[in-house]
Amino acid sequence: MKEKGNIGVTTENIFPVIKKFLYSDHEIFIREIVSNAVDATQKLRTLASKGELKEEAGDLTVRVSIDKKAGTLTVSDRGIGMTAEEIDKYINQIAFSGANDFLDKYKDDANAIIGHFGLGFYSAFMVSKKVEIVTKSWQEGAQAVKWSCDGSPEYKIEDAKREDRGTDIIMYIDDDCKDFLDENKVEGLLKKYCHFLPITVAFGKKKEWKDGKQVETEEDNVINDTTPLWTKKPSELKDEDYKKFYRELYPMADEPLFWIHLNVDYPFHLTGVLYFPKVKSNFDLQKNKIQLYCNQVFVTDSVEGIVPDFLTLLHGVIDSPDIPLNVSRSYLQSDQNVKKISTYISKKVSDRLSSLFKNDRKDFEAKWDNIKIFIHYGMLSENDFYDKANKFALFKDTDGKFYTYEEYQTLIKDNQTDKDGNLIYLYAQNKDDQFTYIQTAEAKGYNVLLMDGELDAAMVGLFEQKLEKARFTRVDSDVIDRLIVKKDSTKEELPEAQKEVLTSVFQTQMPNLSSNGENGKAGYEFHVEAQALGETSAPVTITQSEYMRRMKDMARLQPGMAFYGEMPDMLNIVLNTDHKLVKNVLEESEKSVSEFLKPIDAEIAGLSARRDAINQQNKDLKWDEIPQERKDELSKTEKDIEEQRAKKTTIIGNYAKDNKVVHQLIDLALLQNGLLRGEALSQFIQRSIDLI
Ligand code: ADP
Repeated sequence: MKEKGNIGVTTENIFPVIKKFLYSDHEIFIREIVSNAVDATQKLRTLASKGELKEEAGDLTVRVSIDKKAGTLTVSDRGIGMTAEEIDKYINQIAFSGANDFLDKYKDDANAIIGHFGLGFYSAFMVSKKVEIVTKSWQEGAQAVKWSCDGSPEYKIEDAKREDRGTDIIMYIDDDCKDFLDENKVEGLLKKYCHFLPITVAFGKKKEWKDGKQVETEEDNVINDTTPLWTKKPSELKDEDYKKFYRELYPMADEPLFWIHLNVDYPFHLTGVLYFPKVKSNFDLQKNKIQLYCNQVFVTDSVEGIVPDFLTLLHGVIDSPDIPLNVSRSYLQSDQNVKKISTYISKKVSDRLSSLFKNDRKDFEAKWDNIKIFIHYGMLSENDFYDKANKFALFKDTDGKFYTYEEYQTLIKDNQTDKDGNLIYLYAQNKDDQFTYIQTAEAKGYNVLLMDGELDAAMVGLFEQKLEKARFTRVDSDVIDRLIVKKDSTKEELPEAQKEVLTSVFQTQMPNLSSNGENGKAGYEFHVEAQALGETSAPVTITQSEYMRRMKDMARLQPGMAFYGEMPDMLNIVLNTDHKLVKNVLEESEKSVSEFLKPIDAEIAGLSARRDAINQQNKDLKWDEIPQERKDELSKTEKDIEEQRAKKTTIIGNYAKDNKVVHQLIDLALLQNGLLRGEALSQFIQRSIDLI
């Protein structure tokens, strides 16, 4: 027999299409050709097991080989083979209708095109200038045939010689794809796509070092594990098996924390194993991705859309013939099966976490720091998951004790409810930075949570929405008496004039750190205020408003809020007017400067009166109804007031610059917050020695 014919493509020519559109992921031809060989071999096995095969099945290894001289890559199997009629039916007739529309739509997605048209075999033309099939059917007395095609719609088919049952696919690799003749490259691709195929795949022979060079051994270089862990029954597996499989998947990763074996038959088929990895940094998170298989054939490691978003951070494998792989991503997300699969996985994960928590809380607590990022991510992104997780998710306090949300509410209810009935959750983000504030809060009988996770800033926002009457406040966001306001203050405050002198004394001496940030960070700005905080409280405390800090925290996570990130940190310097040292400073300052301030104050009083009078006159007038002279007078008066105030500040500043106590108090407060560095720090040390 010898004949020629045209491949049954109804539109022009499929080959340019294959080459052009599928170029981006053309390496998947290996997967297609090898899995065809595996399919044919599995079919043969089935026939043999039914007793329909007359001969011995024999060695069924699928063999991949390279012939550099001939420029070919060959995949050989001892499967069912094909007769000439079968070639005609399965290879020559490609059902191909409405192709142009379809290709336009899916031109970037090789999986979709290949799967849609059953073009698996033709993907060989993505890398070959010519492809030959030499095949002999398993049926008794079958004639071996050779089919060949050079990438035009024309093919040739003729009788051939082949002793053995089975098929060789011989690909004459294109000149611009020569790397598919490179052993390392091909072995890498086989490992990627064929790692867990159910029939043994060998790529040449194993090599060993002998007399200073590599020589081939007798042993097959087997690429795959034909019975990967997820295909086995959980009851037959030990912890060590799961860990070993994990190492096989991700040789460089740390041991996983725990795993979940997935196994469903209805209403869809899905098996797999998901691992909770031990992550050291954000960078690790995306490195070892979940791998998606379809009947042990690797499909992809981008599982977005199939696995709930927050679980894409897990590791492991999912194998399902029911995920429509040959469709676009957007279609995938609306597929009912896929939705069910996603819900199933999410539920499995929360069930597993919940049982870990119930059965071994100590162990769960020990793993908490490592798993909280997954749980928090899940709670933030899925309401359903939040509802399940809020029963086992934990709070950790600064002493390292763990509480469920409910336990924690009970713990703080009595002591941390404010006058409006809000439950105030105090937290620290860094135990060292906020050490003194934590101590002060604990001394008052408060509990302080440790919120040092990547997602804790976002969690705080979520808790305030979800937990009833809950407010979160960082321990250093206010002085202790105002952290949780239990009743309106009855403390006696200083008169305004004295407050003004006192705050000026300190404000004028605050260091300028506004552009002093490190690593491109914005610096600090200080705002001094005076408060009566009781004799035993610290003389000077630095606080940072919860609101501003949160905005800046969020800005770091959300690019759209960069504006907040560029602003310096606003810090409040709270002077305790009840403290002896602060009282002394005020007394001495007044003594030294009041004489100079008196005339200025009188001047300011006069100017202010004038300004008020002008404003009174203008009260009912629109801006353009006010006579120009009066406008001029107003702005001059205001300028004069400013000038007098500046004079005052200069006088106070001149006095304060030599006041060692003021500097010592400021430096101590900065030191406590890690803000005293460099020259300022050494000045402080010198001054301290002098004072001793
Ligand atoms: P699909 O595998 O999706 O059916 P392919 O284009 O990959 O599409 O293959 C078309 C058909 O050609 C297969 O269904 C099978 O009948 C036949 N075939 C391909 N490769 C082999 C092989 N190595 N041995 C036997 N038959 C094969």
